[in-house]
Amino acid sequence: STLSQRPEVRSIMDQTEKIRSLSIIAHVDHGKTTLADSLVSRAGIISTKAAGDTKFTHGRKDEQERGVTIKSTGVTLCLEHDQGDGHGQQPYLVNLIDSPGHVDFSSEVTAALRITDGAIVVVDCIEGCAVQTETVLRQALQERVKPCLFVNKVDRCILEMQMEAEDMYLRFRNAIENVNVIIATYNDSSMGDLQVRPELGNVAFGSGLHGWGFSIETFAKILSAKSGMEKSKMMEKLWGDWFYNPKKKVWTNVQQPEDCEEPLQRGFCQYVMNPINQLIRAIMDKDSEKYEKMMARVGIVLKGEDKNLTGKALMKHVMQNWINAGESLVAMVVMKLPPPKLAQRYRVENLYDGPMDDEAAMGIRNCDPSGPLMMYVSKMVPAADKSRFYAFGRVFSGTVATGQKVRIQGPHYRPGSRDDLHVRAIQRTVLMMGRGTELIQDVPCGNTVALVGVDQYILKSGTITTLEDAHNFTDMKYSVSPVVKVAVKPKDGKDLPKLVEGLKRLSKSDQLVVCSTEESGEHVIAGCGELHVEICLKDLREEFAQCDFTVSDPVVSYRETVTEESNQTCLAKSANKHNRLYLKAEPLDGELVQAIEQGQVGPKADCKEAAKLLTSKFGWDKQVAQSKIWCFGPECDGANMVVDTTIGAQYLADIKDSVTSAFQWATKEGPLCEENMRGIRFNLTEVMLHPDKVHRGGGQIMPATRRACFASELTAKPTLQEPVFLVEISCPKDSLSGIYNCLNLRRGCVFEENQREGTPLVQVKAHLPVSESFGFVGSLRQATSGQAFPQCVFDHWESLPGNCLEKGSKMEELVLSIRKRKNLKLQMPLLADYLDKL
Ligand code: GDP
Repeated sequence: STLSQRPEVRSIMDQTEKIRSLSIIAHVDHGKTTLADSLVSRAGIISTKAAGDTKFTHGRKDEQERGVTIKSTGVTLCLEHDQGDGHGQQPYLVNLIDSPGHVDFSSEVTAALRITDGAIVVVDCIEGCAVQTETVLRQALQERVKPCLFVNKVDRCILEMQMEAEDMYLRFRNAIENVNVIIATYNDSSMGDLQVRPELGNVAFGSGLHGWGFSIETFAKILSAKSGMEKSKMMEKLWGDWFYNPKKKVWTNVQQPEDCEEPLQRGFCQYVMNPINQLIRAIMDKDSEKYEKMMARVGIVLKGEDKNLTGKALMKHVMQNWINAGESLVAMVVMKLPPPKLAQRYRVENLYDGPMDDEAAMGIRNCDPSGPLMMYVSKMVPAADKSRFYAFGRVFSGTVATGQKVRIQGPHYRPGSRDDLHVRAIQRTVLMMGRGTELIQDVPCGNTVALVGVDQYILKSGTITTLEDAHNFTDMKYSVSPVVKVAVKPKDGKDLPKLVEGLKRLSKSDQLVVCSTEESGEHVIAGCGELHVEICLKDLREEFAQCDFTVSDPVVSYRETVTEESNQTCLAKSANKHNRLYLKAEPLDGELVQAIEQGQVGPKADCKEAAKLLTSKFGWDKQVAQSKIWCFGPECDGANMVVDTTIGAQYLADIKDSVTSAFQWATKEGPLCEENMRGIRFNLTEVMLHPDKVHRGGGQIMPATRRACFASELTAKPTLQEPVFLVEISCPKDSLSGIYNCLNLRRGCVFEENQREGTPLVQVKAHLPVSESFGFVGSLRQATSGQAFPQCVFDHWESLPGNCLEKGSKMEELVLSIRKRKNLKLQMPLLADYLDKL
């Protein structure tokens, strides 16, 4: 249905209580996409028959081929729901964001969660709560997104495994409990109790594939109408230890009361699961007498051609008409997930960087359509011709309109500055409808929207506002990191401009990919794992660059770090010999490095909180923590810093800018092999500067600072850090030895082994250096006859043992091999090149 067919869509946008924004999150293959289709089919965009078969949200060909969802897609749906409040069917707007389950794309999940208030967590009831279920659910809770649960693939319990109702109950209960353990671990008190419980109606069960599903509420409604018991009372009886005693006509929580010869059936089994089980089996067994009777009892009448249906087709038809998955989902979404006005009240603290009492914060908190415009762009979506991008995101305050003049603030924008700021008019505002887009004049807060004409000014994400002193929306935090790199080169030199332009577009289209040009002129693409890089290359080749290029073998990023304090104070003189800088390097505490990378300490952190953490947890001197850290780097937020430890130095403030710029440059490309530095604290111990400003400008100070940084690193026992994956593998017990062999050959080590309860499966967790991970999936499958399938996700940086500066050592060899790859001089850096004598 189009907007012109449904003019009421725009008017619902103004009624924020009628809007829900949600993502569907799950472990890969648990059935997100299939379930999303059953929602989409309710909106009448695709027909009910096709639901489950068409994969509407899968726009990309390679997604269909691979069978995994790659890029998240947004779709705005108009859905009807009867709240039972006497107003009958009412239209609701549901913004649905489908997101990928594979860990290599978890940045897409983050981007999706940012603009939604609720999440449907899909769990395959056979496999239970899996590794990725935990990761995505944790991400959701961190973004203050409220979960509800869909226990999927129940058809397999019935048809394949021929389970009885009670066994299904136990299985479902187990899955729900595991989800609740995760929720309890990451629950944020500002959102209240988030546990999912069938008796509360925020858990649904069903088969996305066959298009049926229900929550306890679905059946409570039917039964309360029959029995006269209140619906809310009924709901309590249909889950947990409640049994109906037909003799006494009472509910009891004793399974076998004294007056009964046989144990009683659990309420859930007797009134919910048995009827479903029996109806499905009767149809599949072609027991027409039985199923016709049952159908009549639940009021399903076959009409026209449907009368000829048999077997599976009949089963799907009957189930979809009786307990439709889409309908149950809409009910759960509308009743259990928060509308924007409610959600933004507690989400504002996480969403907004500025003070909580400024105009922008108030607009967001109150979801005020007449407040200042505050829109967050979470994702750049390529338009059909792949050369332009829609800026897709959500309006959190005010109203965005075609032609409106707005401020476009990038991630490096700071209030008061003009960095990363553009003021432009929005060409067009459009709605995303899955495959297509629809023009719309304006969109008020609480809704998702896409903008045309701002793509030149936004790289990957940004803040759009009309308020002059608005701060940015908080940057998204990713649980993965781009550590696998390949270099690309056009086959035909003439295609270089095409490739460069293509890389620019690729970089926009993906939250995490980093495209850069090395000093050697090499064009490098960095992604989070082999699969991610593979997909990026495919996009580049087929869509963004459309030219032929060669690809190097994948390599990993390293970090340069130090393991001790510099064994001397390193002096560097400026070229004119009039200025002297003295620097010493020392390692930062490992936990502090993480705190910086997570933003608890650093340019974006609250200064007071950060200083408190430095003194209380890391034993820093109070004054140093509060006022002596000059900057972080590289990119102003990396985990290295310059600390001023001078005493009584003159003109120091004048050179601060030059020192910090040189430090950014030095930490981006260290002396060992031009990798980023990590975990180094540079102490500026003394400076002697020329009294005349002319003789101590940036041109003098910057090169000297850089050399002093390099010398300090080289005198502090430098080493490299390599990225390490966390690998999670589920496999049958008897393939364990194959896994161990495979990991041992690649310097991997297992640190946890869990027997999965009620299954013959073992879950193994191991660390594996990224540099050893290429081809790992293939060789693991070979070693275990295809039984084990790993998921790798970046976990941490690990310092390599040994001494880089020892002649003939393994570390020296590694450094030289990186230098060779980068076309750098094939020799180790010499301290004498950077260290000056008095
Ligand atoms: P996603 O990776 O989570 O998006 O999962 P998909 O929706 O692509 O589904 C993964 C696989 O599981 C596909 O082969 C689906 O046909 C299958 N599947 C999805 N839902 C169900 C279900 O309810 N029952 C059964 N038996 N299979 C399902």
